[in-house]
Amino acid sequence: MPNLSNPTDIARETLKILSVRRIAPTPDNYRRLYHEIAGAQAPTEPGAELALQRILRASGERLPALKQSMQRLEKALAARNWMEFEKDFADLVEERGAEGGWAELIRDLVRQWEAAHSGVTLRRKREGLERVLANFGSNPAALRTKIRALVNSWAETPVRRGTLVDDPAAPGPLPAAPSGKPAPPEAAEAAASEFQIQLRDLLAQCLELGVAPRLALFPDLMDEAASLAKRAREASDILVLRGLAKDLKQFWFKLEIRGEGDAEIHAGLLSLLRLLVDNISELVADDQWLKGQIAVVREVISHPVTSRELYYAERSFKDLLLKQGVLKHGLNEAKATLKRMMASFVDRLGEMSESTGQYHAKIAGHAARIGQTEDIQQLNQILEDLQADTKDIQREMLRSREELLEARKRVEEAEEKVQRLQVELEQVSEMVHEDHLTGALNRRGLEDEFEREIARGDRLHSPLSIAVLDVDHFKRLNDTLGHQAGDEALIHLVRVVKETLRPTDVIARYGGEEFVIILPDTDSREAVQVMIRLQRELTKKFFLHDNRRVLITFSAGVALRAPNETSESLIARADRAVYQAKQAGRNRVVSAEA
Ligand code: GH3
Ligand code: MG
Ligand code: MG
Repeated sequence: MPNLSNPTDIARETLKILSVRRIAPTPDNYRRLYHEIAGAQAPTEPGAELALQRILRASGERLPALKQSMQRLEKALAARNWMEFEKDFADLVEERGAEGGWAELIRDLVRQWEAAHSGVTLRRKREGLERVLANFGSNPAALRTKIRALVNSWAETPVRRGTLVDDPAAPGPLPAAPSGKPAPPEAAEAAASEFQIQLRDLLAQCLELGVAPRLALFPDLMDEAASLAKRAREASDILVLRGLAKDLKQFWFKLEIRGEGDAEIHAGLLSLLRLLVDNISELVADDQWLKGQIAVVREVISHPVTSRELYYAERSFKDLLLKQGVLKHGLNEAKATLKRMMASFVDRLGEMSESTGQYHAKIAGHAARIGQTEDIQQLNQILEDLQADTKDIQREMLRSREELLEARKRVEEAEEKVQRLQVELEQVSEMVHEDHLTGALNRRGLEDEFEREIARGDRLHSPLSIAVLDVDHFKRLNDTLGHQAGDEALIHLVRVVKETLRPTDVIARYGGEEFVIILPDTDSREAVQVMIRLQRELTKKFFLHDNRRVLITFSAGVALRAPNETSESLIARADRAVYQAKQAGRNRVVSAEA
C-alpha cells in the first residue's frame, strides 16, 4: 500500500481499495479503510456522535419544553438516520423561530403603522388588522403569518414624506416632537407641505362632489365649480393659490345670489303641502283607502325632507295609484250596478202601486155595477170581469214579486262586491315595497333600490357592493322547532340586520331564507367586514324560542359591482360565493371573484 499523505489521494485510494476488495461502500467501511491507508488509528468510537448525544440529552433536561423534540433527535441519531435527524432539526428551528418572532413582528407592525404610506390610510390599516384579528385570533401560528403578510404588504407601498392621515375626510394631527419640544424644522416642513396637499385635495373634492352636483339648475356654475376643482388640484405655488382664492370668492358670491330664496321656497312649499295634507285627511275621513297615501306624505314632511325619502314616497305612491286605479274601476262598476238595481226596484214598486191602484179602481167600478144591476145575466158578466181582473193583478203581483226578489239578490251581490273591493283598496293603500313577513324589501323593492343605487354610484363614482346571505340549515330549524319558529327566526334576522347596518344599507328578501343586502359606498373589503360584524352580532343577539336560545348562522357571498355590471350579474356572482361559503363549511363570508 503506497504511503500517502494528501487527504484527496487517500480518499481516492480508499475508494479504489473498497472496489478491489469488493467491500460494501458503507460509511463505516470507508472510515475504517481511510484510516488504515492514512496509517492512523481509526477512532474506535464516533466521538462527534457521542458529543451530540450528550448535548441533546442535556438540552432536553434543561428545557422541558424541548424534551420531546430532543428525544426524537436522539432516536434519529442512535439509528443514524441522518435524513430524519435533519428534518426533525429543521422543524424544531422553524417552530422555535416562529414563536420567538413576535417581538420582531410587533416592532415592525408599529413601525409600518406609523409610516405614512401613499394609498394606505390609517383607516385601511386598522380595518386590515381588525380583519386578521377577527379571522385568525384563535390560531397563534396563522395569526402571526397573516400579520406578517399584512405588515409586509404595507411595507411594500411607497412611503410619503410627512404625516400619516386617517382618511381624506379627517386629516391626522401634525406630528409633534415628544415632550412638547418643537419638531425638527425639516419634519415640520414636510408635515406642513403634506397638510397643504391634503387641504388642496379636500377643497377639490368639496367642489366636485359637494358643490357641483347641487348646481344642476345652473349649468354655468356647475362647470365653474368643476374647473375651480381642477385648478385647486393642480395648484403648485402660492401665486396660483392666490389667483384661485380670488376666483373662489367670486364664485361664492354668484352662488349666494342664485341660491337666494331657495330655502324660503323650500320652506314655503313644505308648509303648503302640510296644509293640504291636513285638510285632505279631514275631507276624506270616510275614504279609508286613502289613509295609506296620506300617512306616507305625513311621515315624509314631519321632519327635514331628504331626497331618499321623497323618492320612496313617490315610488310607493306610484305603486298604489296603479293598483288603486284597477280596483277603483271595479268599485265604480259595482256601484253603478247597485244604482241600476235600486232604480229598477223603485220602478217596479211604482208599477206595482200603479197596477194595484188600477185594480182598486176596477174593483170599485165592479162593486158599483153590482149595486146597480138586478140582471143575473149582467151579474154573471160582472163576476167574470172581476175574476179576470183579479187574475191579472195576481199575475202582475207574482211577476213583480219575482222581479223584486231577483233585484234584491243582485243588489246584495253588488253590495258585497263593493265591500270586498273597498277592503282590498284599503289593503293596497297600506302596501309598500315590503315583504309582509319580515318587513325587508321584497323583490320589486329590491329592483327599484338597485336601479337607484346603481345610478347614484355611477354618478358619484362610488363603489357599490352587495351581499347575498342564506341562512344555514334552515330546513333543520323548521323541522325541529316548527315553521312558525322558522318565520320568527327570519323576522329576528332582519331586525338584527337593520340594527347592525348603516341606515343607507338596505336589506331585501330575495327568496325563502335568502336575503340581499345592498351596501352603497362600500368596497368589497369593507363589505366583508360588515358581514363579519353581522355574524358577530347574531351570536350576541340570540333568537329566543320558547325561552331557549337558538343560534342562527348564515353563509354570505359578497361582490363589488364592476363598471356597467347589471344587478342580475352582480347577484349571480354573490350567489356563487354563497355556494362556496356553504361548500367550505357554512357560517362564513366569501368574496366573489370579479
Ligand atoms: P343550507 O345551509 O344549505 O342553506 O340548508 P337549508 O336547510 O337552509 O337550505 P334549503 O334551501 O334546503 O332549505 C331552505 C328551507 O327554508 C326550505 C323551506 O321550507 C324553508 N323556508 C323557505 N321560506 C320559508 C319561510 O318563509 N318560513 C319558514 N319557516 N321556512 C321557510
Ligand atoms: Mg337557500
Ligand atoms: Mg339555507
